[in-house]
Amino acid sequence: MGCLSFSLQDVPPDGLHVAREVGKEDLQLEEDYPGIRDVLSLTATIRLEDSEFWVEGELKGFLVHECVRCLGEFTAPANISFQARYRDPHHRRARRKGTDKSEGDQDPDEVESYPVVKQRIALHDLLREHVILSVPMQPLCSDGCRGLCQTCGHSLNVSTCGCEETRTESPFAVLRAVRKSSSNRLA
Ligand SMILES: [Zn+2]
Ligand SMILES: [Zn+2]
Repeated sequence: MGCLSFSLQDVPPDGLHVAREVGKEDLQLEEDYPGIRDVLSLTATIRLEDSEFWVEGELKGFLVHECVRCLGEFTAPANISFQARYRDPHHRRARRKGTDKSEGDQDPDEVESYPVVKQRIALHDLLREHVILSVPMQPLCSDGCRGLCQTCGHSLNVSTCGCEETRTESPFAVLRAVRKSSSNRLA
């Protein structure tokens, strides 16, 4: 695993190119979620621009999710790109005093900004947040996942169970029925 914190002095005028592997201990993901299979490979560039540092890059690899239907774990490719700026809070204050800018001047492009701390740029928070944001709201192991039997909890992806089939209608079928009756009423 590589260190994810860079000294400002190590950023050359034409930018610092970073390529390294990132493990879950680097990202300090809460409760290990999402899980990382092996490591993620990080490529990024850190550039100085107008007394701010721009960080742009990608994280690639595989993440382990839990399926919302069958609760099984599955692995899916992750291809996460990110962009952020890092500011030295001291610089900022000095500039504000000079130009007397109003409080809360928003970034027009809404790129996230992180502080430069002790003359270093640390990527941990940035990367962790992007990994978490990349997780789908409702992870599914496959579109056709059959989920668990509502009676005995058996995974119907593995085999059918002996329970009586009391499968509820798909919500889409219900929707279609509603549409049909309302269009009949209109006709
Ligand atoms: Zn599933
Ligand atoms: Zn069952």
